Amino acid sequence: MTIAYQLDTAGAAFRRTEIERRPLGPRDVHLDLQFCGICHSDLVAASNKLGGGMYPMVPGHEMVGIVTEVGADVEGVSVGDAVGVGCIADSCRVCKSCSAGDEHYCDTGFTLSFNSKDREGRVNYGGYASDYVVDYDYIVPIPQGADLARMAPLLCGGITVYTPLKRFGVGPGTTLCVLGVGGLGHLAIQFASAMGARVIVASRSAAKRADATRLGAEVALDPDSAALQDWMGQCDLILDTISNAHDLNRWFPLLRRGGKLCLLGVPTEDLSVFPALIVFGDRSLEGSLIGGISDTRDMIQFAHEHGVGAEIELIQPDDIEAAWHRLHAGDVQYRFVIDLRSLGDG
Ligand SMILES: [Zn+2]
Ligand SMILES: [Zn+2]
Repeated sequence: MTIAYQLDTAGAAFRRTEIERRPLGPRDVHLDLQFCGICHSDLVAASNKLGGGMYPMVPGHEMVGIVTEVGADVEGVSVGDAVGVGCIADSCRVCKSCSAGDEHYCDTGFTLSFNSKDREGRVNYGGYASDYVVDYDYIVPIPQGADLARMAPLLCGGITVYTPLKRFGVGPGTTLCVLGVGGLGHLAIQFASAMGARVIVASRSAAKRADATRLGAEVALDPDSAALQDWMGQCDLILDTISNAHDLNRWFPLLRRGGKLCLLGVPTEDLSVFPALIVFGDRSLEGSLIGGISDTRDMIQFAHEHGVGAEIELIQPDDIEAAWHRLHAGDVQYRFVIDLRSLGDG
């Protein structure tokens, strides 16, 4: 049996219980989970604020585990390998998006690794658990020698920032502005610096500005200071990781002609845009959702080669509830990761 931390309804407290995973199919791998990151979207799904909540729910979509069993048709992965599973557990594989490696925009809707039904109609339970079963097309190899706990948050948080950096050509000669130094922002700073871009950060917190500089930002600004004026028209891309209501219009002027402001956070409130800021500056507002499997594999490799990893607070499974309360209050440096190793033998 699988030991899991389950929510019986929206708003319920976590309960340690046993669940059943699907039997290992010919294309499946079975993972003994080692670590799982706690992503803000776990809280959003559990709250059922956007609807679609399936209860009982076992959250968790930033999993790293060790392969313990492989189905008869599985290729390229062996027992003992470290692999990750992010948000995507399956998709149709044949639509235009899937064929292009963008499984997260699958025409039929991709299967999430939790709070979602698999292709045979069974509810998927996520990674706050001792093990996981998934089709091998959707696993992400973790390089040997990598710090598995620091890699876990990259499976969602890392790919969320990597995708737009790649899509908008961030690298030497480009200037990126990161809004918000949190779970996503602290990874965006590291990836963009490793790609050779100039990175500026805006944060009201002096402690976070210090962290941003340590993580590779050239400049960390207080958005309420006059120094912000020096950066008007200087940026090629703004990655906006803020997940609550905020004013977009004050940021567009930082973009040079043709620059883009890309939303990664998903506030549930309306955000207004003053059209002249876009029209006169030839600027655009973009959005980006996680990323496909192939890009996720590239991202993990890149992170390993460049020493990019999440800054984490490692917690034990019985502390998930307390961690959720802290995350809800924005009190984490910068990602909680659950140490699941003790569940494996229990
Ligand atoms: Zn996530
Ligand atoms: Zn598809």
